[in-house]
Amino acid sequence: MVGEKCGVFGVKCYGDDNAFVYLYWGLVAQNHRGHESYGFLTHSEGLRRYVDLGLVPRIDKQEFLRWNILLPGKVGIAHVRYGTSGHKDVYAHLKDAQPMVVSRGREKLGLGFNGNLVNIGWLRDIITQKNGRLKTTSDTELLCRYLVDNASNGIRESIRLCMENVEGAFSVVGLTSKGEFFGFRDPLGMRPLCLGQSRDGSIKAISSESVGMNINGFDVVNEVKPGEMILFREGGIERERLVKDGRSAFCGFEFAYFARPDSIVNGRYVYKVREEFGRNLGRRYREVVKDADLIISIPETADDAAYGLHEETGLRWERSLRRHRYVTQRAFILEDNERTSTIDRKINVIDGSMRGKRVIVVEDSIVRGDTTKTIIRKLRERGAEKIYLLVTFPRISNPCFYGIDMASFTELIGFYLDEDGIAKEIGADKVCYQPLEDFIRATGMRPGDLCMACITGNYPTELAQRIADKVRSSVEKSDKGRIYERLGLEV
Ligand code: SF4
Repeated sequence: MVGEKCGVFGVKCYGDDNAFVYLYWGLVAQNHRGHESYGFLTHSEGLRRYVDLGLVPRIDKQEFLRWNILLPGKVGIAHVRYGTSGHKDVYAHLKDAQPMVVSRGREKLGLGFNGNLVNIGWLRDIITQKNGRLKTTSDTELLCRYLVDNASNGIRESIRLCMENVEGAFSVVGLTSKGEFFGFRDPLGMRPLCLGQSRDGSIKAISSESVGMNINGFDVVNEVKPGEMILFREGGIERERLVKDGRSAFCGFEFAYFARPDSIVNGRYVYKVREEFGRNLGRRYREVVKDADLIISIPETADDAAYGLHEETGLRWERSLRRHRYVTQRAFILEDNERTSTIDRKINVIDGSMRGKRVIVVEDSIVRGDTTKTIIRKLRERGAEKIYLLVTFPRISNPCFYGIDMASFTELIGFYLDEDGIAKEIGADKVCYQPLEDFIRATGMRPGDLCMACITGNYPTELAQRIADKVRSSVEKSDKGRIYERLGLEV
């Protein structure tokens, strides 16, 4: 299990509605993208902000009604966070919670940001030279400051400069103290972002995933294009593609793990893509299928692939693993020795369903291997005779610079070990990954339009490539921490 990224939502009501209710539901639908903190920022004669730690549904009815009054306004932005930059200290999370607001003179700018910046050394230098010390450890403050510092010619120009000079993945919603509401996506469109509206068109919204629109009863208009900015003016929206890179690099991992199955990405439901992953696995690994008695899946991200595999092979799919719904502690806030026990508590194994059986376990991905190892141990304890692990996302052997919390070579089991080595390490009889070409075909995207850098080591941006190449050649087991945060690596 890896940490999830972030989710953003923003809304402008052209009628009498308050924005807060829509923001709240937009976050509830996207809480899977970040469990660490959440926040709201609305505008009504100035900016009003509320952030807190934990899950959005923990806001009870009384609190909800209170904040609906305390955060008035017809326009607002909201954010759920899982930090991929900055401290992992629990106490710093509240300070880094978003939307984050920075000031310059009397002007204020608030941002909700999904993604991760790569050239943070350069950004930090130019920003601290101008503003002195930063208040947080988050790259959102860097992005906020960069936009504010360059806003003398208007927000459009500031966003254009950001797209041209800031390297990384960023899908952003923003709101100024003048009530200007905007959204934009990096030139490669690495993180999802879509535009939607109410049936009568009187409410316009922007959301990381389409489920944020569905829960509010809005229609999805379309996806925000790579390099595109949307300004929500009083008279309607204004869309402009500020930078055209000519290519895109949408994160492939969204299809395998992050996005909700009922979200639409690139015009296709994610669950349909995952079913195809399962069918691919069945076609590729016929020998394994022949030697198996049943299919089980790691809930819930591998369930659709397991269904596809079941459809393709006719092999029984037994729902032997169930998730304890209210175990919501996140592995990221725990020490290493606690991590396993939490994963242990999350998944329940139905007794008797696999005693003496040869089992195919469908998994979405293997990052560190600790979750899978724990589950395999539990299956062995319940008497599984053979365990074949079929994995939908190809072998991850390179870190991610763009907002997924797998940011060093040394934490990746697939960096050190091949399929056989991984099988031995986690206790499976065999590990089989979906080949890269099968994965890409199933997504329906062109190979050049997807980022698959954590598999191939070919990064879609220059600095990330240089840093990865430099670090790869001298990796030591003791290397820890996110490689893009190390000083001196911006070569
Ligand atoms: S490196 Fe991997 S996880 Fe990161 S953006 Fe690319 S595909 Fe997604």
